[in-house]
Amino acid sequence: MNDSKQVQRRQFNRWLVSASLIPMAGKVLALEALRPKARVAVVGAGIVGSAITYHLAKRGLDVTLLDRNAVASASSHGTFAWINASWAKQPESYHALNQMGVDAWHRLQQALNLPIKWGGSLEWFAAAERQDRLSRDVQEQQAWGEPAKMLTQLEASALEPRVAFGGAGHVALSPRDGALDPVLVSQRLVNAAKSHGARVIEHCEVLRVDETAEDQRQKILGTSCGDIAVDRLVLATGADPSAIQTFAGFDLPQRSTPGVIVITQPMPPVLSHIVVAPGIHIHQRLDGRLVLGEQEGAPENAAHKLRLTARPTRFPNAATASQHAQRLITLASEYLTGLPEVNAEEVIIGWRPLPLDGHPVIGPSPADPNAYVAVMHSGVSLAAIVGELVAEEILTGERAPVLTPFRADRGFESVKRY
Ligand SMILES: Cc1cc2nc3c(=O)[nH]c(=O)nc-3n(C[C@H](O)[C@H](O)[C@H](O)COP(=O)(O)OP(=O)(O)OC[C@H]3O[C@@H](n4cnc5c(N)ncnc54)[C@H](O)[C@@H]3O)c2cc1C
Repeated sequence: MNDSKQVQRRQFNRWLVSASLIPMAGKVLALEALRPKARVAVVGAGIVGSAITYHLAKRGLDVTLLDRNAVASASSHGTFAWINASWAKQPESYHALNQMGVDAWHRLQQALNLPIKWGGSLEWFAAAERQDRLSRDVQEQQAWGEPAKMLTQLEASALEPRVAFGGAGHVALSPRDGALDPVLVSQRLVNAAKSHGARVIEHCEVLRVDETAEDQRQKILGTSCGDIAVDRLVLATGADPSAIQTFAGFDLPQRSTPGVIVITQPMPPVLSHIVVAPGIHIHQRLDGRLVLGEQEGAPENAAHKLRLTARPTRFPNAATASQHAQRLITLASEYLTGLPEVNAEEVIIGWRPLPLDGHPVIGPSPADPNAYVAVMHSGVSLAAIVGELVAEEILTGERAPVLTPFRADRGFESVKRY
């Protein structure tokens, strides 16, 4: 498909999505417009909560962002941080939301001078059957308006001379993809929100939410740093297993999975694309650090199961962390040749916020229209667009049709993604 056809196709997709030709999920959840200067509390200062706070504050609401830890200290710290609308994003409505996510990051980058590295991604698999599926997925993406294509190994090598593509006959190029430093970008969003008057309170845990006797629409948040009265509550609490039930009154079934992320010391430029090789993901940030993410989770055995029940974000000791870092560095070196000495600076276990069907949950709680939920995987790809759409919905009370498939009152079928 040529470029102008792809653009037309993308515009058509957007129209399709915004014209709400997608099936409605469950009943229509009510949303009431907020008065100017209404008080909104956003719980969770990950990349999603930070983006929502920025957009709400920019639009004049009186916003308080709270986190029990620091900005971007949970999933938005232990993440690979790849911005994409690529093959894993299915069906079309979810792909379209991710395409809008990529566009929204460009807008935010321009508005706030954010450090985002665009350069595209190169992906391939070891198994022939998986490679075939990748080719089919790339064709599907082309039909959905994405300029992805399969390259020969020679073409891929010309783009990334240091990468050993091994026996890969073909490599998928997704040229619109990018990556960011999620902690730095979240902090920039928070600072921009503060410049629009938002209050940001770190190390403050929300413990309970009460309704006031005078006005049921008002809430009092009982927090570890005192009570806070608000008109609307936004829960961007990520993988927290109980926050949605406790504060929004409904069960959001999640199957959070862990992943190891290694961040190396800075090095001169060696890689311009995000590389998704068999077993490992690699990109180099603008600050020169390589980010390594493993494709598989922990081995499924009783010892791991027991260790993981406490949801650790660090390995039990420095020696184990270093073994895991070395394991990922060795794997990365198989694909990235001629590297200088690579030393790990950070080894993190990240926990994915992962609704059971793998898709975001965005919208008012079915149990309480004044509690709004934004919990999702691919939160890095989606934060910029989710920030825009959630602010618009909360402010105006008008539902964005593009979010219809992602409401909280849908049936949650279990689908294994990530
Ligand atoms: C290994 C791994 C790789 C990933 N790779 C990618 C990728 O390449 N691309 C992509 O798009 N996505 C990726 N993801 C997913 C992405 O990182 C997440 O979707 C995103 O970071 C979620 O951001 P968030 O702000 O919703 O949640 P979080 O960053 O987890 O923030 C939630 C915050 O809520 C706070 N909180 C919870 N309860 C309370 C309370 N009661 N009081 C106060 N604070 C509270 C927590 O302290 C936390 O800081 C990956 C995730 C992992 C783990």
